[in-house]
Amino acid sequence: MLIQENVPLAPLTSFRIGGPARFLIEARAAGEVAEAVAFARSRVLPLFVLGGGSNLVIADAGWPGLVLKIGISGVVRRPGSQEGKILFEVGAGEDWDTFVAHTVEAGCAGVECLSGIPGSVGGTPVQNVGAYGQEVSETIDSVEVFDLRDGQIRELCAEACEFSYRSSIFNTSERGRFVILRVTYALEPGSAAHIEYTDLKRQFEGRSPTLSETRDAVRQIRARKGMLIIDGDPDCRSAGSFFKNPVLSTEQHEDLFGRALSKGLTVPSYPALEQAHKVSAAWLVEHSGFTRGYRLGKVAISSKHALAIVNLGGARAEEVLALKDRIQREVEQTWAVRLETEPVFVGQ
Ligand SMILES: Cc1cc2nc3c(=O)[nH]c(=O)nc-3n(C[C@H](O)[C@H](O)[C@H](O)COP(=O)(O)OP(=O)(O)OC[C@H]3O[C@@H](n4cnc5c(N)ncnc54)[C@H](O)[C@@H]3O)c2cc1C
Repeated sequence: MLIQENVPLAPLTSFRIGGPARFLIEARAAGEVAEAVAFARSRVLPLFVLGGGSNLVIADAGWPGLVLKIGISGVVRRPGSQEGKILFEVGAGEDWDTFVAHTVEAGCAGVECLSGIPGSVGGTPVQNVGAYGQEVSETIDSVEVFDLRDGQIRELCAEACEFSYRSSIFNTSERGRFVILRVTYALEPGSAAHIEYTDLKRQFEGRSPTLSETRDAVRQIRARKGMLIIDGDPDCRSAGSFFKNPVLSTEQHEDLFGRALSKGLTVPSYPALEQAHKVSAAWLVEHSGFTRGYRLGKVAISSKHALAIVNLGGARAEEVLALKDRIQREVEQTWAVRLETEPVFVGQ
């Protein structure tokens, strides 16, 4: 097991921001995870588990302890217990989008709308990644974890993960307890692509696209929004959406619509948002005095999507925090809604 010292973390993230790790170990198997954890304990080092680095804001000072990068690979396919489904048991270190491409090629439906999301397979259960009408919670069968409490390997069923919008036990009640080793997805062979999202429906004008057409369309839409990592495109030097769509109480929801009306505005509403009293965070940002491309030092709001903060080159984490604070303050003052952040802040 290679133990590296003072490793720059910025190149290991999509944001390209942050200082070094005191130590870094890449674990390629469960046994190496256990060894790395023992190393951190023996030196009383704080531990941070790193996947693909696509949802992180790493502090300028870096991480004072051990960064454990998960490099567990492998995709195993087996018949599922549920009628007709196929289980894909995938190493946490596999690249998510490469896995999605594999499922689409295999003709198995369930994750095609999640094409183009960067990061690792192990990162997907953490915030229950979702896009274009799908969430991984709909297909995750189980998650194999290393329990840092007692060093045991456990299999958590989907219910035990308590998935909801951008949330699971991994980023709430049991945050920091588990290292995800493998994720098993139950997919449906021969099933139709899942087309719920307005942009996708429009693209196919009522016809039923193949999984492969759906994947291509999702990637094209993402590219237009700067939500697909393309080398050299400064709009994707980000951590994806920086704010979650707020979920409001009935009272807050009515208050927001009232405030909009008094300004002669209409809050956009879609069936999926309406059901949960969820409102578009992007709309709130764009109606609080910010425009796409709004700049503060070396960071800016993406020119393609109001929800992404981008690194214009050589930005510092403190500049990201300053812009985040400014957006949260203005949105709260204008709409009485507090935007919650989506990325994970490391070492801040
Ligand atoms: C351009 C762009 C577009 C994006 N679009 C979307 C989108 O449409 N929908 C969406 O939901 N997200 C989106 N994201 C956010 C991000 O891609 C996902 O959250 C992704 O699943 C994060 O995975 P990761 O492996 O990169 O995790 P990291 O960023 O490395 O880590 C994120 C968190 O997960 C934890 N973690 C990672 N791996 C493990 C593991 N094996 N065991 C335990 N904990 C672990 C880390 O400790 C950290 O707390 C986007 C990001 C970018 C940059």
